[in-house]
Amino acid sequence: MSEGNKNILRKERKSIRIMINMYCGKFHNKEDELCEECSDLLAYAQKRLDFCPWGEDKIR
Ligand SMILES: [Zn+2]
Repeated sequence: MSEGNKNILRKERKSIRIMINMYCGKFHNKEDELCEECSDLLAYAQKRLDFCPWGEDKIR
């Protein structure tokens, strides 16, 4: 993997976490930590990033 790809991957991980944090704070009223549901979602999303940095929809 090239340096550029690694940087993008890091950015995507960060933005996914921020997005899920915001979502959980807004809809599940969790301020500082994620609820169980959102923790699972975050783990799943980051696992997918490990597997494929671009996500399925960008390949097709
Ligand atoms: Zn939540």
